[in-house]
Amino acid sequence: MKALIIGGGIGGLVTALELNKLGLEAHVFESVGEVKPLGVGINLLPHCVRCLDALGALSRLEAIGIPTADHAYYTNRGQRVWGEPRGLAAGYKWPQFGIHRGELQVALMDLAREKLPAGHIHTGYHLAGFEEKSGGKIVASFIDRRSGAKLEDVEGDVLIAADGIHSTVRAKFYPEEGPPKWNGAIIWRSASIAKPFLSGRTQLGIGGRQTFITYPVSKHEEDKGSGLINWAARFFVDTSKGFAREDWNREGRFEDFLPRYENWRFDFLDVPALIEKAEKVWEFPMVDRDPLPRWTFGRATLLGDAAHPMYPLGSNGASQAILDARSLAQAISDLGDIDAALARYEDERRGPTGNIVLRNRTGGPEVVIRMAEERAPDGFKSIEDVIPREELERISANYKQLARFDIASVNA
Ligand SMILES: Cc1cc2nc3c(=O)[nH]c(=O)nc-3n(C[C@H](O)[C@H](O)[C@H](O)COP(=O)(O)OP(=O)(O)OC[C@H]3O[C@@H](n4cnc5c(N)ncnc54)[C@H](O)[C@@H]3O)c2cc1C
Repeated sequence: MKALIIGGGIGGLVTALELNKLGLEAHVFESVGEVKPLGVGINLLPHCVRCLDALGALSRLEAIGIPTADHAYYTNRGQRVWGEPRGLAAGYKWPQFGIHRGELQVALMDLAREKLPAGHIHTGYHLAGFEEKSGGKIVASFIDRRSGAKLEDVEGDVLIAADGIHSTVRAKFYPEEGPPKWNGAIIWRSASIAKPFLSGRTQLGIGGRQTFITYPVSKHEEDKGSGLINWAARFFVDTSKGFAREDWNREGRFEDFLPRYENWRFDFLDVPALIEKAEKVWEFPMVDRDPLPRWTFGRATLLGDAAHPMYPLGSNGASQAILDARSLAQAISDLGDIDAALARYEDERRGPTGNIVLRNRTGGPEVVIRMAEERAPDGFKSIEDVIPREELERISANYKQLARFDIASVNA
């Protein structure tokens, strides 16, 4: 069995590591020639850290990421709505990490280069198309995107498309689908060198309609007594002008969002001061795609953002891609038969990830902030006068179950 994995992002690399660990042949084809540490922060939830630990990656995560100690949500007036311990502090056997996405990708790429046989990671290979021959063999064709030159075709037994939100393979399966769906909000993302806030390892969300999410992501900076503080400012804009194609690397302008946060100076965090410490900012529309009725066509299937791009709420983008990788590799290893394995994988993963896409459209776990702001626009004395404790607990627990990181299942 030879697997052709399209995309060397988080999902593709973890799929290769999983298959390789189970003794299966995996080749990764990544469009860019050199993987650079692009992006800013992402979160790894304990269930996917458990998978990465089994692949031998835990010490690498510990060397770069910050084990999240707690989550806290505040209103736009700086009033606390909800807080809870997370990761090891909450009793999970595995940590949750706030981590720099690019450093994580480079760490996984290094691990994959160490573990996979030489010549199995192909960079500068952009998938142009593929076809399935009789007998189930897949032939994939590639180009060098910089020069446009055609590269040699590659034959395999299964094609796993981990090629992100603009997946070539998804577009081939669903030619009518078009661009991702935009909800009218823009996210401005960056990271600033600054002192951490609250517990020092808090993942913090402020504001329900206009939002600021922030958490520390760099062990290296923490060791120096400071912090690399990832942040994302988000609000709805005038949609009449539309928005250019989603690009993780498009630079934004501070003047487009900073004035909206001018009054967000709280005793636990001075938001404008944190924003002003960043050198550059990137802008990305809040987009996702509808859950699909089917991921697998013949011997080709979708994984990660190619299968279920979702709003970046609740720490699920990378985490769900990693769970996909584990499920797919285990199915291929257990069943041997590729068609049966793809069917089991899709059965296990398509429904749950589709539910997260839909739940994130209604606000994910952050919805409690909006509820508090709507129910008490002038603020409150006690949050319990506005949202009963049981309701807050239920929303948090439900989201953990939906995304499958409730403590009992992860530790079992
Ligand atoms: C450059 C970049 C920066 C990002 N920054 C952030 C961030 O700051 N915060 C955040 O929450 N999420 C970010 N993301 C998204 C986040 O990484 C994903 O949501 C999550 O990790 C799931 O990963 P994935 O592997 O499914 O997709 P991705 O991480 O998007 O990886 C897809 C990979 O496929 C490659 N690829 C695309 N098309 C082809 C093709 N035709 N042939 C071969 N290879 C192809 C891409 O170069 C990329 O490496 C970023 C993604 C990218 C690509």
